[in-house]
Amino acid sequence: MTHRVAIVGAGPSGFYAVDGLLRARPDLHIDIIDRLPTPYGLVRAGVAPDHQGTKAIVRQFEKLLQQPDVRFAGNLEVGRDLSWDELTAAYDATVVATGRVLDRRLGIPGDDLPHVWGSWRFVAWLNGHPDFRAGPDLSAVRSVAVVGNGNVALDVARVLAKTPDEMAKSDIVAEAGAAIAAAPLADIHVLGRRGPEHASFTGNELAEMGRLARAAAVTDAAALQVEAPAGDPTPERLRKAKNLDILKGFAAVPPGGKPVTVHFRFHAVPVAIRPGEIELSTGVLPADLVVTCIGYDGAPLPAGDGVFAVGWARRGPSGTIPTNRADSHAVAQQVLAYLKDRDPKSGPDILPPAVDAAGWHRIDRHEVAAGAAQGRPRVKLTDWQALLDIAQGD
Ligand code: NAP
Repeated sequence: MTHRVAIVGAGPSGFYAVDGLLRARPDLHIDIIDRLPTPYGLVRAGVAPDHQGTKAIVRQFEKLLQQPDVRFAGNLEVGRDLSWDELTAAYDATVVATGRVLDRRLGIPGDDLPHVWGSWRFVAWLNGHPDFRAGPDLSAVRSVAVVGNGNVALDVARVLAKTPDEMAKSDIVAEAGAAIAAAPLADIHVLGRRGPEHASFTGNELAEMGRLARAAAVTDAAALQVEAPAGDPTPERLRKAKNLDILKGFAAVPPGGKPVTVHFRFHAVPVAIRPGEIELSTGVLPADLVVTCIGYDGAPLPAGDGVFAVGWARRGPSGTIPTNRADSHAVAQQVLAYLKDRDPKSGPDILPPAVDAAGWHRIDRHEVAAGAAQGRPRVKLTDWQALLDIAQGD
């Protein structure tokens, strides 16, 4: 008998928890449960479709799925197909790695209008998440307001700004790629409610905005006469100083040089949204589409003896994939300490039928083969039933 651990949520934090556990206890039986028939969470549904380098991390997770005592159980939703109580009673430890999947609301008049999209929904659409197949109507969208000064705001602005050629090696879903290509886009406003010295962009992502084929990144030099807050830890001050340097480069770009302009605007607090416009503390801007990139909320987590949370479910929606690796490894140590003095539970295997790793690999092969024909990394299946049919080998 050995201990059995359930990981709920097959995103990066869940897989890094598996990694941390197996490094010390290769004998553990681990089941990785996900409500989708596909693993990898935000790497599949959240990382922007043109950032394939970031998505390459899944090769490490694939190796974990190949371990003989690690099972993937996809298309299985805790709370629907089995209860949290059943799960925690049957496993020696349960790791909750369910992330944050609800868009935060701005909480201003008009934030529920149909042309206001949260970044979770918007990016899930670009990425072919089967629950988010309907995207915004972009056919008359000339001006977009992207609210937020984090990397998600850059992802959204960049994917909207890129040309079909720049997206050719991405795995953006065809409908989204075609809708963006056909939109009469002219202006994308990236709106920070505070100054540029507080933006949470990272340097490589911000610099990429200055290298786009059809879009020029611009900003007003007047907002840039600031320094990173002196009280910040050194890495933060360096990151912010680099951001300010990059923005100074944008401030030197003459407007109107390219068909699309990405405007970085600061101290712009959203006040109200109306059809076709957004009212800010600084004035009114035209906005046929508003994408809020202001963070995510999650459902309440189950608690109890032997239940541990990791990643965004534990810490909130911040931190890149490497941040979550360290976090999950630390929680794995807590799980190992908890298991140390406990006898393994006995009892039957309680998992209902699910999409296993072989089923996921059938989906993966199908998508990669479909992509190869187009020179893309993959063409995603976005229909639940199609995913399940392929997983079952139909
Ligand atoms: P984030 O970095 O926390 O940025 C959220 C932004 O929303 C902040 O600028 C915040 O401003 C703003 N905001 C919050 N509430 C607001 C409101 N009511 N009105 C206006 N603005 C508001 O989060 P994120 O962009 O969602 O990214 C989440 C994490 O994923 C981050 O750690 C990010 O680095 C990571 N990520 C990384 C990559 C990459 O490495 N390429 C890509 C995507 C995401 P304040 O600062 O004023 O609160």
